[in-house]
Amino acid sequence: MALGFDQIGITDTNLQAEEAYHQAWIAKGFHGEMDYMAKHGVKRTRPAELVPNTLRVISARLDYLPPNALASQQVLQDNSKAFISRYALARDYHKVMRNKLQKLSEKIQSSINQTEGFNFEHRVFTDSAPVLEVALAEKAGMGWRGKHTLLLNKDHGSWFFLGEIYTNLPLPIDKPSNNHCGTCSSCMEVCPTQAIVAPYQVDARRCISYLTIELKDSIPIEFRSLIGNRVYGCDDCQLHCPWNKFAEISREPDFAIKNGLDDISLIDCFSWSEDTFKTKLAGSAIYRIGYTQWLRNIAIGLGNADTTPEVIAALQAPVNDDTAILREHITWALAQHQN
Ligand code: SF4
Ligand code: SF4
Repeated sequence: MALGFDQIGITDTNLQAEEAYHQAWIAKGFHGEMDYMAKHGVKRTRPAELVPNTLRVISARLDYLPPNALASQQVLQDNSKAFISRYALARDYHKVMRNKLQKLSEKIQSSINQTEGFNFEHRVFTDSAPVLEVALAEKAGMGWRGKHTLLLNKDHGSWFFLGEIYTNLPLPIDKPSNNHCGTCSSCMEVCPTQAIVAPYQVDARRCISYLTIELKDSIPIEFRSLIGNRVYGCDDCQLHCPWNKFAEISREPDFAIKNGLDDISLIDCFSWSEDTFKTKLAGSAIYRIGYTQWLRNIAIGLGNADTTPEVIAALQAPVNDDTAILREHITWALAQHQN
Protein backbone atom coordinates (compact mmCIF):
# COMPACT_ATOMS: atom_id res chain seq x y z
CA MET A 1 0.00 0.00 0.00
CA ALA A 2 1.32 3.40 -1.03
CA LEU A 3 0.98 4.93 2.43
CA GLY A 4 2.84 2.05 4.05
CA PHE A 5 -0.06 0.40 5.87
CA ASP A 6 0.12 -3.38 6.05
CA GLN A 7 -3.64 -3.93 6.00
CA ILE A 8 -6.88 -1.97 5.91
CA GLY A 9 -10.33 -3.24 6.94
CA ILE A 10 -13.73 -1.58 7.17
CA THR A 11 -16.55 -2.21 9.61
CA ASP A 12 -19.86 -0.75 10.67
CA THR A 13 -20.28 0.73 14.16
CA ASN A 14 -22.34 -1.98 15.86
CA LEU A 15 -20.34 -3.02 18.94
CA GLN A 16 -23.32 -4.23 20.92
CA ALA A 17 -21.75 -7.60 21.75
CA GLU A 18 -18.60 -5.82 22.87
CA GLU A 19 -20.45 -3.45 25.19
CA ALA A 20 -21.32 -6.16 27.70
CA TYR A 21 -17.79 -7.61 27.57
CA HIS A 22 -16.23 -4.18 28.14
CA GLN A 23 -18.59 -3.22 30.95
CA ALA A 24 -18.02 -6.54 32.73
CA TRP A 25 -14.25 -5.96 32.54
CA ILE A 26 -14.63 -2.49 34.07
CA ALA A 27 -17.06 -3.76 36.72
CA LYS A 28 -14.44 -6.28 37.88
CA GLY A 29 -11.98 -3.43 38.33
CA PHE A 30 -9.56 -5.11 35.87
CA HIS A 31 -8.64 -1.68 34.43
CA GLY A 32 -6.90 -0.71 37.69
CA GLU A 33 -5.99 2.98 37.76
CA MET A 34 -6.67 3.47 34.06
CA ASP A 35 -9.68 5.65 34.84
CA TYR A 36 -9.85 6.74 31.23
CA MET A 37 -11.01 3.22 30.35
CA ALA A 38 -14.11 3.68 32.49
CA LYS A 39 -14.81 7.29 31.48
CA HIS A 40 -16.90 8.40 28.51
CA GLY A 41 -19.84 6.06 29.24
CA VAL A 42 -20.90 4.23 26.12
CA LYS A 43 -18.93 6.47 23.76
CA ARG A 44 -16.29 3.75 23.66
CA THR A 45 -18.71 1.12 22.40
CA ARG A 46 -20.91 3.40 20.29
CA PRO A 47 -18.69 5.22 17.78
CA ALA A 48 -21.47 7.54 16.57
CA GLU A 49 -21.85 8.89 20.11
CA LEU A 50 -18.16 9.81 20.13
CA VAL A 51 -18.16 11.27 16.60
CA PRO A 52 -21.65 12.14 15.38
CA ASN A 53 -22.65 10.76 11.96
CA THR A 54 -20.06 7.97 12.05
CA LEU A 55 -21.26 5.09 9.89
CA ARG A 56 -18.02 3.24 9.24
CA VAL A 57 -14.67 2.68 10.86
CA ILE A 58 -11.61 2.20 8.68
CA SER A 59 -9.12 0.12 10.67
CA ALA A 60 -5.44 0.16 9.71
CA ARG A 61 -2.62 -2.22 10.62
CA LEU A 62 1.00 -1.18 10.78
CA ASP A 63 3.58 -3.87 11.54
CA TYR A 64 6.23 -2.68 13.97
CA LEU A 65 8.73 -5.47 14.47
CA PRO A 66 12.17 -4.01 13.76
CA PRO A 67 14.99 -6.14 12.32
CA ASN A 68 16.84 -7.94 15.14
CA ALA A 69 14.00 -7.37 17.60
CA LEU A 70 13.37 -11.09 18.01
CA ALA A 71 17.04 -12.08 18.14
CA SER A 72 17.60 -9.55 20.90
CA GLN A 73 14.78 -10.97 23.00
CA GLN A 74 17.58 -13.07 24.59
CA VAL A 75 18.03 -10.00 26.77
CA LEU A 76 15.10 -11.41 28.76
CA GLN A 77 17.34 -14.27 29.91
CA ASP A 78 20.17 -11.94 30.96
CA ASN A 79 19.26 -10.33 34.27
CA SER A 80 22.01 -7.71 33.96
CA LYS A 81 20.18 -6.23 30.94
CA ALA A 82 17.00 -4.15 30.65
CA PHE A 83 14.20 -5.68 28.60
CA ILE A 84 11.99 -3.20 26.76
CA SER A 85 8.80 -4.20 25.01
CA ARG A 86 9.45 -4.66 21.26
CA TYR A 87 7.01 -1.90 20.29
CA ALA A 88 8.92 0.72 22.28
CA LEU A 89 12.39 0.14 20.82
CA ALA A 90 11.86 2.74 18.12
CA ARG A 91 10.23 6.11 17.64
CA ASP A 92 6.84 6.60 19.31
CA TYR A 93 4.36 5.22 16.80
CA HIS A 94 1.53 7.64 17.48
CA LYS A 95 2.81 10.39 15.17
CA VAL A 96 3.79 7.94 12.43
CA MET A 97 0.36 6.28 12.49
CA ARG A 98 -1.52 9.58 12.75
CA ASN A 99 0.34 11.06 9.73
CA LYS A 100 -0.47 8.01 7.62
CA LEU A 101 -4.13 8.01 8.65
CA GLN A 102 -4.35 11.72 7.87
CA LYS A 103 -2.85 11.15 4.41
CA LEU A 104 -5.30 8.32 3.77
CA SER A 105 -8.17 10.61 4.77
CA GLU A 106 -6.88 13.28 2.38
CA LYS A 107 -6.73 10.75 -0.45
CA ILE A 108 -10.30 9.68 0.25
CA GLN A 109 -11.35 13.32 0.42
CA SER A 110 -9.77 14.15 -2.93
CA SER A 111 -11.24 11.09 -4.66
CA ILE A 112 -14.70 12.05 -3.38
CA ASN A 113 -14.24 15.67 -4.49
CA GLN A 114 -13.48 14.47 -7.99
CA THR A 115 -16.42 12.11 -8.31
CA GLU A 116 -19.31 12.61 -5.94
CA GLY A 117 -19.37 15.95 -4.13
CA PHE A 118 -20.10 14.09 -0.89
CA ASN A 119 -19.54 15.91 2.41
CA PHE A 120 -16.85 13.60 3.78
CA GLU A 121 -16.60 13.78 7.58
CA HIS A 122 -13.83 11.95 9.37
CA ARG A 123 -11.65 11.81 12.46
CA VAL A 124 -8.46 9.81 12.95
CA PHE A 125 -7.49 7.94 16.13
CA THR A 126 -4.24 6.41 17.28
CA ASP A 127 -4.80 5.04 20.75
CA SER A 128 -5.83 8.60 21.62
CA ALA A 129 -9.51 8.49 22.55
CA PRO A 130 -12.15 6.08 23.78
CA VAL A 131 -11.91 3.72 20.82
CA LEU A 132 -12.17 -0.07 21.11
CA GLU A 133 -9.54 -0.69 18.50
CA VAL A 134 -9.22 -4.46 18.91
CA ALA A 135 -12.98 -5.04 18.69
CA LEU A 136 -13.27 -2.77 15.66
CA ALA A 137 -10.31 -4.40 13.90
CA GLU A 138 -11.74 -7.85 14.61
CA LYS A 139 -15.08 -6.85 13.09
CA ALA A 140 -13.21 -5.35 10.13
CA GLY A 141 -11.67 -8.74 9.32
CA MET A 142 -8.14 -7.85 10.41
CA GLY A 143 -7.79 -10.82 12.77
CA TRP A 144 -9.28 -12.13 15.98
CA ARG A 145 -8.91 -11.27 19.65
CA GLY A 146 -6.52 -13.83 21.10
CA LYS A 147 -6.86 -15.25 24.61
CA HIS A 148 -4.31 -12.59 25.64
CA THR A 149 -6.86 -10.01 24.31
CA LEU A 150 -4.57 -8.59 21.62
CA LEU A 151 -5.51 -8.76 17.97
CA LEU A 152 -3.98 -11.71 16.19
CA ASN A 153 -3.74 -12.35 12.47
CA LYS A 154 -3.31 -15.82 10.96
CA ASP A 155 -0.79 -14.61 8.38
CA HIS A 156 0.90 -11.80 10.31
CA GLY A 157 0.88 -12.61 14.04
CA SER A 158 0.32 -9.79 16.53
CA TRP A 159 3.32 -7.47 16.35
CA PHE A 160 1.45 -4.52 14.93
CA PHE A 161 -0.20 -1.21 15.80
CA LEU A 162 -3.77 -0.33 14.97
CA GLY A 163 -5.25 3.02 14.02
CA GLU A 164 -8.73 4.10 12.97
CA ILE A 165 -10.62 6.59 10.85
CA TYR A 166 -14.22 7.22 11.90
CA THR A 167 -16.24 8.42 8.94
CA ASN A 168 -19.72 9.09 7.60
CA LEU A 169 -18.76 7.54 4.24
CA PRO A 170 -20.93 4.42 3.70
CA LEU A 171 -18.13 2.18 2.44
CA PRO A 172 -18.73 -1.57 1.92
CA ILE A 173 -17.77 -3.53 5.03
CA ASP A 174 -15.45 -6.52 5.47
CA LYS A 175 -16.33 -9.86 7.03
CA PRO A 176 -15.08 -10.51 10.58
CA SER A 177 -12.28 -13.10 10.93
CA ASN A 178 -12.63 -16.47 12.62
CA ASN A 179 -10.90 -17.23 15.91
CA HIS A 180 -7.94 -19.61 15.57
CA CYS A 181 -6.75 -19.91 19.19
CA GLY A 182 -8.36 -23.35 19.41
CA THR A 183 -7.12 -25.38 22.38
CA CYS A 184 -3.89 -23.38 22.67
CA SER A 185 -3.34 -21.61 25.98
CA SER A 186 0.39 -20.81 25.71
CA CYS A 187 -0.07 -17.13 26.50
CA MET A 188 -1.95 -17.94 29.71
CA GLU A 189 0.68 -20.44 30.82
CA VAL A 190 3.73 -18.26 30.20
CA CYS A 191 2.38 -15.03 31.63
CA PRO A 192 4.83 -14.29 34.48
CA THR A 193 2.16 -12.76 36.73
CA GLN A 194 -0.84 -14.90 35.72
CA ALA A 195 -2.55 -11.76 34.46
CA ILE A 196 -4.65 -13.64 31.89
CA VAL A 197 -7.07 -14.80 34.54
CA ALA A 198 -9.35 -16.59 32.05
CA PRO A 199 -9.36 -16.84 28.25
CA TYR A 200 -9.95 -13.35 26.82
CA GLN A 201 -9.76 -11.78 30.32
CA VAL A 202 -6.68 -9.81 31.34
CA ASP A 203 -6.61 -8.33 34.81
CA ALA A 204 -4.52 -5.28 33.97
CA ARG A 205 -3.64 -4.84 37.64
CA ARG A 206 -1.48 -7.97 37.33
CA CYS A 207 -0.09 -7.26 33.86
CA ILE A 208 3.55 -6.14 33.69
CA SER A 209 2.74 -3.70 30.87
CA TYR A 210 0.29 -1.96 33.17
CA LEU A 211 2.56 -2.15 36.21
CA THR A 212 5.61 -0.69 34.46
CA ILE A 213 3.87 1.84 32.19
CA GLU A 214 0.41 2.82 33.42
CA LEU A 215 0.82 2.54 37.19
CA LYS A 216 2.33 5.71 38.58
CA ASP A 217 2.58 4.62 42.21
CA SER A 218 4.48 1.95 44.03
CA ILE A 219 4.52 -1.43 42.29
CA PRO A 220 2.91 -4.04 44.57
CA ILE A 221 5.56 -6.17 46.30
CA GLU A 222 3.96 -9.44 45.14
CA PHE A 223 4.81 -8.65 41.51
CA ARG A 224 8.32 -7.25 41.86
CA SER A 225 10.28 -10.49 41.62
CA LEU A 226 8.01 -11.73 38.83
CA ILE A 227 8.74 -8.63 36.77
CA GLY A 228 12.35 -9.77 36.37
CA ASN A 229 14.24 -7.40 34.09
CA ARG A 230 11.19 -6.11 32.17
CA VAL A 231 11.65 -2.36 32.68
CA TYR A 232 9.10 -1.15 30.12
CA GLY A 233 6.23 -3.39 29.14
CA CYS A 234 6.20 -7.13 28.60
CA ASP A 235 5.98 -9.28 25.49
CA ASP A 236 5.88 -12.80 26.89
CA CYS A 237 2.33 -13.59 25.75
CA GLN A 238 3.24 -12.52 22.22
CA LEU A 239 6.68 -14.14 22.19
CA HIS A 240 5.09 -17.52 22.95
CA CYS A 241 2.09 -17.25 20.65
CA PRO A 242 2.47 -19.80 17.84
CA TRP A 243 0.93 -17.47 15.26
CA ASN A 244 3.78 -15.03 15.66
CA LYS A 245 6.02 -17.29 13.61
CA PHE A 246 4.21 -15.67 10.67
CA ALA A 247 4.94 -12.12 11.79
CA GLU A 248 6.97 -10.01 9.40
CA ILE A 249 9.65 -7.41 9.92
CA SER A 250 8.30 -3.87 9.64
CA ARG A 251 8.86 -1.99 6.37
CA GLU A 252 8.57 1.33 8.22
CA PRO A 253 11.98 3.09 8.54
CA ASP A 254 10.74 5.01 11.61
CA PHE A 255 10.43 1.72 13.49
CA ALA A 256 14.16 0.92 13.39
CA ILE A 257 15.63 0.36 16.87
CA LYS A 258 16.96 3.60 18.39
CA ASN A 259 19.96 4.10 20.68
CA GLY A 260 20.61 0.35 21.04
CA LEU A 261 17.55 0.05 23.30
CA ASP A 262 17.32 -3.68 22.58
CA ASP A 263 20.59 -4.34 24.41
CA ILE A 264 21.22 -2.01 27.32
CA SER A 265 22.54 -2.72 30.78
CA LEU A 266 20.45 -2.07 33.88
CA ILE A 267 23.41 -0.46 35.61
CA ASP A 268 23.97 1.94 32.70
CA CYS A 269 20.30 2.94 32.57
CA PHE A 270 20.24 3.51 36.31
CA SER A 271 23.18 5.90 36.05
CA TRP A 272 21.50 8.16 33.47
CA SER A 273 20.86 11.70 34.63
CA GLU A 274 17.45 13.16 33.89
CA ASP A 275 19.00 15.07 30.98
CA THR A 276 20.44 11.87 29.56
CA PHE A 277 17.06 10.17 29.96
CA LYS A 278 15.42 13.01 28.07
CA THR A 279 18.03 13.08 25.33
CA LYS A 280 18.20 9.34 24.75
CA LEU A 281 14.46 8.78 24.88
CA ALA A 282 13.20 11.92 23.11
CA GLY A 283 10.56 10.83 20.60
CA SER A 284 10.22 7.41 22.26
CA ALA A 285 7.07 6.09 23.97
CA ILE A 286 9.23 5.49 27.06
CA TYR A 287 9.76 9.25 27.47
CA ARG A 288 6.13 9.57 28.53
CA ILE A 289 6.53 7.59 31.76
CA GLY A 290 9.05 10.13 33.02
CA TYR A 291 12.40 9.84 34.78
CA THR A 292 11.16 8.73 38.23
CA GLN A 293 9.06 5.88 36.88
CA TRP A 294 11.92 4.80 34.60
CA LEU A 295 14.28 4.63 37.60
CA ARG A 296 11.59 2.87 39.69
CA ASN A 297 11.32 0.15 37.06
CA ILE A 298 15.08 -0.23 36.72
CA ALA A 299 15.47 -0.45 40.49
CA ILE A 300 13.19 -3.50 40.37
CA GLY A 301 15.33 -4.97 37.59
CA LEU A 302 18.46 -4.41 39.67
CA GLY A 303 16.74 -6.04 42.65
CA ASN A 304 16.20 -9.10 40.47
CA ALA A 305 19.74 -9.12 39.01
CA ASP A 306 22.53 -11.41 40.23
CA THR A 307 24.17 -10.13 43.40
CA THR A 308 27.44 -8.49 42.37
CA PRO A 309 29.48 -5.62 43.85
CA GLU A 310 28.60 -3.56 40.75
CA VAL A 311 24.85 -4.02 41.19
CA ILE A 312 25.01 -3.12 44.87
CA ALA A 313 27.21 -0.10 44.16
CA ALA A 314 24.76 1.08 41.50
CA LEU A 315 21.86 0.84 43.94
CA GLN A 316 23.82 2.62 46.67
CA ALA A 317 25.09 5.43 44.44
CA PRO A 318 23.48 8.86 44.82
CA VAL A 319 20.54 9.33 42.44
CA ASN A 320 19.35 12.69 41.17
CA ASP A 321 15.80 11.89 42.12
CA ASP A 322 14.84 12.09 45.76
CA THR A 323 11.25 10.90 45.54
CA ALA A 324 9.84 8.67 48.25
CA ILE A 325 8.64 6.20 45.64
CA LEU A 326 12.12 5.72 44.19
CA ARG A 327 13.78 5.46 47.61
CA GLU A 328 11.31 2.75 48.59
CA HIS A 329 12.01 0.70 45.44
CA ILE A 330 15.76 1.06 45.91
CA THR A 331 15.43 -0.13 49.52
CA TRP A 332 13.47 -3.14 48.28
CA ALA A 333 16.08 -3.85 45.59
CA LEU A 334 18.99 -3.70 48.05
CA ALA A 335 17.11 -6.04 50.42
CA GLN A 336 16.97 -8.66 47.63
CA HIS A 337 20.77 -8.83 47.74
CA GLN A 338 21.04 -9.29 51.47
CA ASN A 339 19.75 -12.86 51.67
S1 SF4 B 1 1.99 -8.54 28.69
FE1 SF4 B 1 3.11 -9.95 30.07
S2 SF4 B 1 2.15 -9.70 32.04
FE2 SF4 B 1 0.73 -8.82 30.53
S3 SF4 B 1 -0.64 -10.48 29.98
FE3 SF4 B 1 1.05 -10.56 28.50
S4 SF4 B 1 2.53 -12.01 29.42
FE4 SF4 B 1 1.12 -11.38 31.03
S1 SF4 C 1 -0.81 -18.08 22.57
FE1 SF4 C 1 -2.41 -19.47 21.86
S2 SF4 C 1 -4.22 -18.93 23.09
FE2 SF4 C 1 -2.78 -17.26 23.27
S3 SF4 C 1 -3.39 -15.80 21.68
FE3 SF4 C 1 -1.81 -17.13 20.79
S4 SF4 C 1 -2.96 -18.79 19.80
FE4 SF4 C 1 -4.38 -17.76 21.19
